[in-house]
Amino acid sequence: MRKHICLLEGDGIGPEIITQGVAAIKAAASRFGHELDFEKALIGGAAIDASGEPLPAQTIEKCRRADAVFLGAVGGPKWDAHSHDKRPEKGLLGIRKALGLYANLRPALLMPELAGACLLKPEIAAAGIDLVVVRELTGDVYFGEPRGIKEHGGERVGLNSMVYTEGEVRRIARTAFELARSRRRRVCSVDKSNVLETSRLWREVVVDEHKNYIDVELAHLYVDNAAMQLVRAPSQFDVILTGNLFGDILSDEAAVITGSLGMLPSASTGASGPGLFEPVHGSAPDIAGQDKANPLAAILSGAMLLRLGLGMPEAADLTERAVRAVLAEGCRTADIMEPGKTLLGCVAMGQKVVECICKL
Ligand code: NAD
Repeated sequence: MRKHICLLEGDGIGPEIITQGVAAIKAAASRFGHELDFEKALIGGAAIDASGEPLPAQTIEKCRRADAVFLGAVGGPKWDAHSHDKRPEKGLLGIRKALGLYANLRPALLMPELAGACLLKPEIAAAGIDLVVVRELTGDVYFGEPRGIKEHGGERVGLNSMVYTEGEVRRIARTAFELARSRRRRVCSVDKSNVLETSRLWREVVVDEHKNYIDVELAHLYVDNAAMQLVRAPSQFDVILTGNLFGDILSDEAAVITGSLGMLPSASTGASGPGLFEPVHGSAPDIAGQDKANPLAAILSGAMLLRLGLGMPEAADLTERAVRAVLAEGCRTADIMEPGKTLLGCVAMGQKVVECICKL
């Protein structure tokens, strides 16, 4: 197979980690006879500097032409004073919208090699954490109308509307059920249907769509209980299906309990067209250009790109196994360093993973 990938390196540590991510997925794909070619495009602060826009039209075109998009991170203090419309983050929201990406997949996996970094009690961590939060990305209070800050009765009133259509719920439910079929076949749908009408519709539609996936076990939790269960017994979860607002919070909670930000990948997918694959972390301006960034979140995002974006599951598995092997060998970047381990920079860590991919 030959596939074309658009690279959006972005700002700060973005270019450093994407360089390592590219080397890893190229090596893994070639082990199975696949060829990848890459084309760069500008986004975020780098695009503002070059063209005045955080998401130039040419970038959207290049992304649409690609089989998958691989993104580093955007933003930094240099652009913090810019108006809302000219900020780097606007590029990120813009590209998600332009590609119609409505599903955000955020795995939280506690690798046994990094169990020491887990924030939970050892007996809870010992039961394992291996879950994916499937968050709806295009609806909910972030986009619902009416919205705004208005004068009412002599004081200001803030207003946002929680809106979901049946179709929006159905398509994200399908994403979760399909994903569960490739994992442990369990979906937990999270809502607040005891209080919110939007959630009542959410639950009804999820239950209805489940009829097409009877081989997958479906459970429901209210969001407050889900937040507690994530820290009390995260091993019970396989796929968590939820809306934009609850998913925003739960995906960060699920991710942080496993340890370092530098280890967390993500994927955003739509109905058709290329998906977007990016590490969860930001552009880390405090360590940019110092060869200190952990490239593993980008490399693991690359593995998701191979599996979900290009249909190359063997190359994805190989990439993930190589990351585990390098950690098992004792290699660490500064953010995940523990006594007795070997400290590596971003480039050396990336090279270790590639070496491993070539010999595993
Ligand atoms: P951040 O994720 O960039 O950094 C938080 C902390 O984690 C920093 O101390 C940083 O050094 C560390 N860190 C992050 N990634 C790391 C890695 N791969 N290896 C080692 N350490 C790592 O979050 P922030 O400081 O809140 O934001 C910095 C900039 O990034 C801001 O402009 C923000 O808007 C932007 N941001 C972008 C995205 C994105 O592009 N998806 C996400 C979050 C923040």
